[in-house]
Amino acid sequence: MGDFKKPSTVKEFEENFAQIKPLMDANMAYYESSRCLFCYDAPCIKACPTEIDIPLFIKQINTNNLTGAARTIYSSNYFGHTCGKVCPTEVLCEGACVYNHQDVKPIEIGRLQSYATTDAIRKDKKLFAKKDKNGQKVAVVGAGPAGIACASELCLLGYEVRIFEAKSQPSGLALHGTAPYKIENSDVLNEVSYLQKQLGFQISYDFKIDNAAAVSELENNYAAIFIGIGLGKTRNTNTPGEQLSNCIGATEFIQQLKLDPLSVTIGKKVVVIGGGNTAMDAASESARMGAEAILLYRRSKEEMGAYEFEYDLIRSVGAKAMFNTAVVEIKGEHAVTEVVCFKTINKNGQLENIAGSEFTIPCDFLIRATGQERQTDFYKMAGLSFDDTGKLIVDEHSFQCSKPSYFAGGDAVNGGAEVVNACAEGKKAAQGIHHHLSNSN
Ligand SMILES: Cc1cc2nc3c(=O)[nH]c(=O)nc-3n(C[C@H](O)[C@H](O)[C@H](O)COP(=O)(O)OP(=O)(O)OC[C@H]3O[C@@H](n4cnc5c(N)ncnc54)[C@H](O)[C@@H]3O)c2cc1C
Ligand code: SF4
Repeated sequence: MGDFKKPSTVKEFEENFAQIKPLMDANMAYYESSRCLFCYDAPCIKACPTEIDIPLFIKQINTNNLTGAARTIYSSNYFGHTCGKVCPTEVLCEGACVYNHQDVKPIEIGRLQSYATTDAIRKDKKLFAKKDKNGQKVAVVGAGPAGIACASELCLLGYEVRIFEAKSQPSGLALHGTAPYKIENSDVLNEVSYLQKQLGFQISYDFKIDNAAAVSELENNYAAIFIGIGLGKTRNTNTPGEQLSNCIGATEFIQQLKLDPLSVTIGKKVVVIGGGNTAMDAASESARMGAEAILLYRRSKEEMGAYEFEYDLIRSVGAKAMFNTAVVEIKGEHAVTEVVCFKTINKNGQLENIAGSEFTIPCDFLIRATGQERQTDFYKMAGLSFDDTGKLIVDEHSFQCSKPSYFAGGDAVNGGAEVVNACAEGKKAAQGIHHHLSNSN
């Protein structure tokens, strides 16, 4: 790996971005499910934020009960298929599998999960026992994983749900953010349309809730409102030169790559700034787009927020990394031509640039993976309390906001985690809404 040519056709793009967890066939699933020890008090369940009964669905796969396996998965996680492919299973369920203690490869839980749910989605299987309509309406703002999970659970409980989504497609960052080598767009979209068909929530697309009148209309017409609007665009760091062309935020770059990969502009030598998982994705994706990619992180390798396996992945596709390297200026006349860096040192917890260590790196494209902005303007508009870091404040059990008819979950509340966390929180918030509305009538 590490020698990619810039793709100029869909086929070349798919080759460069080949699935790292391809769908299993029946034989593979049978073999893999046979390895499971069906542990009592299974650690893999505890490591899953949605607490899927993993040994149960693996047993169901093994006994050729795929419908039962899909039901087990969906009863805990509405994005069961997507999570099977995009979850950092290496640090969650698979990381907790008992086989790790014996130096044996853990069970491929994620791939088994996607295998079991594929059949349900393709055949539009009826797995959900919906309660009768209770006559109450709930609005959901944002059709990301948190919003979809909340809407799905509310429909199951008998509510009528309408989701308001700013974009023209559902799934939020599960569609616009997750790396193309982890999941194909059609997989994410098919799962949402399956849920929509089975459970019956409505989605109003291209419908951004962005003014006080729209907020009061929701308040007047719905018994409760769930906020699942995630985070905003890539945060500026005020580094001189950030406004030059060919300097782009990571989420904006990745969104373009996901929606229209062949139209993406990229340079020959790409600098990626950051040390989180998004930085790893941007570096890996740049390399697969044929660029020479170099990741610059101002702290040490050990201090990176990214998972070790994500770092290994960028190394496997030929991206390079430099640590303790701070970019202080981005230079170029119109477009970026080089970055000015200093080596850094951590002195008693304070990061300092080392005097005299200045050097430059030539590049013709720069991606800033410097975190996402918080949507505090929205929270102020709706009168919702948030903390100093811009996270919405909610009750930890019910996910109720500071205003009683509002509930929230996902990145807006946790500050940016994984799809599986957003799903878990969206579902818990739906139960919080149900409890609140059942007790206030
Ligand atoms: C580059 C990148 C890669 C990632 N890769 C992975 C991965 O591999 N695995 C993984 O598990 N997680 C990954 N994540 C994280 C994961 O995608 C998020 O944690 C998850 O999508 C959060 O779900 P959410 O519903 O809270 O928010 P989002 O997914 O952000 O969805 C929010 C939705 O609300 C809509 N919205 C926003 N404001 C408004 C408004 N005012 N009115 C109406 N609609 C609005 C948005 O358009 C969006 O559709 C990644 C994130 C990024 C940025
Ligand atoms: S820990 Fe591993 S072996 Fe045990 S039930 Fe979970 S997947 Fe199966």
